[in-house]
Amino acid sequence: MDNTIKKIGVLTSGGDAPGMNAAIRAVVRAGFYYNLEVYGIYRGYEGMINNDIRKMDSKSIAHVLERGGTFLKSARSEEFRTAEGRKKAYENIKAIGIDALVVIGGDGSLTGAHLFYKEFGIPAVGLPGTIDNDLFGTDLTIGFDTACNTAIQAIDKIRDTATSHDRLFFIEVMGRDAGFIAINAGIGSAAAAILIPEKKMPVEMLLERLKSREKAKKESNIVIVAEGGKSGGAAEIAEKVRKILPSYDIKVTILGHLQRGGAPSAFDRTLASKLGVSAVEGLLHGKYDVMVGVINNKIVFTPIKRAIVDDKKVDEEELRIANILST
Ligand code: ATP
Repeated sequence: MDNTIKKIGVLTSGGDAPGMNAAIRAVVRAGFYYNLEVYGIYRGYEGMINNDIRKMDSKSIAHVLERGGTFLKSARSEEFRTAEGRKKAYENIKAIGIDALVVIGGDGSLTGAHLFYKEFGIPAVGLPGTIDNDLFGTDLTIGFDTACNTAIQAIDKIRDTATSHDRLFFIEVMGRDAGFIAINAGIGSAAAAILIPEKKMPVEMLLERLKSREKAKKESNIVIVAEGGKSGGAAEIAEKVRKILPSYDIKVTILGHLQRGGAPSAFDRTLASKLGVSAVEGLLHGKYDVMVGVINNKIVFTPIKRAIVDDKKVDEEELRIANILST
C-alpha cells in the first residue's frame, strides 16, 4: 500500500457515457473505505484549470448510480492542451493537496492524464468511459452496453414503421471511427447490412444484398451505418442507393445523441463499479499512468500509452456472424 496518497481527485472528461456516475460513486466510496479524502473535479480538465473542485461526502454520491450522464459534468478543454493550461491545473490541485487522479473518459482524456503525469508526476489511473468501445486494454468500455441497448430499442421502433410501409431505412449510429456499436446494434436488430468505418462495403455489394432479400420476400430492410464510415454517412449512402433503386421508399434516421443518454444498464453499472474500486486500489498499490479495464472478466491494468496508441480491432467473428444472419 502506498501511504503517501491521502487525497485523490476524480473527473469525467470528453463525451459523456452512461455509467460514468456509477464509476464516480465507486471511486468516492472506495476512497472513503481506504480513508482517503476524495475531491470531485467539475467539467473535466476545465474544472482543474478554473478551480471548480469540491470535496465529496457520502451525500454527494447518493442516488447517482442509476442516473445517466455525469453529475460532475464533462467538457472538452482546449486550454488543457496547452502547457500553460496544464500548469494552472497543477497549481490548483497542488494548493488543495490532491496527490493523485482518477480520470474517466476516452482516449483524449487519457492522453491528457498521461501528459500530466509526465510533466508534474501526478499519478493517474484512467477508466475507459466512452460509448464507442474503442479503447485498447479492455474488452468493453463504460457506456457501450447501454448505448447498444438504446440503439436497439430505437431500431425496433423504426422497424415497425419500416415493415408497415415496405420501406428501406438507413439508420446511423454513433461510433466515431469505430464500428463496435454498429456491429452489436446490427446483429441485435436483424439488420440487412452493417456499414462500419473499418471495412468499406461497395454500394454494388449492398445492392446485391437488398435484391436477394427482395427475392426472399423480406418484409423490411434496415441498414445500420456507423457515423464516419468509409462509405460515407447514412444520408450519403441512402442518396447513392436512391439513384440506383428509385422504386424503393428510402428513409434515413440518425440516432445521434439519443444513444448517450438514459439510465446505465445493469452491465454498465457493474463494470463501472468494479473499475472504480480497482482504480483506487491500483493507485494505492503504486499503479500509475495506467488504464484499468476488464479482459476475459479479469481486471487488467494497461499503460495509458498503450491504451491510447494501440488499435482495438473489431471482432472478425462478429462480422462473419452478422453476414450469415443478414443474407
Ligand atoms: P470521447 O471518446 O467520448 O470523444 P475523449 O476523452 O477521447 O472522449 P477528447 O475530446 O478527445 O474526448 O478529449 C477530452 C479532453 O482531454 C480534451 O478536451 C482535452 O482537454 C484533453 N486532451 C485530449 N487530448 C489531449 C492532448 N493531446 N493533450 C492534452 N490534453 C488532451
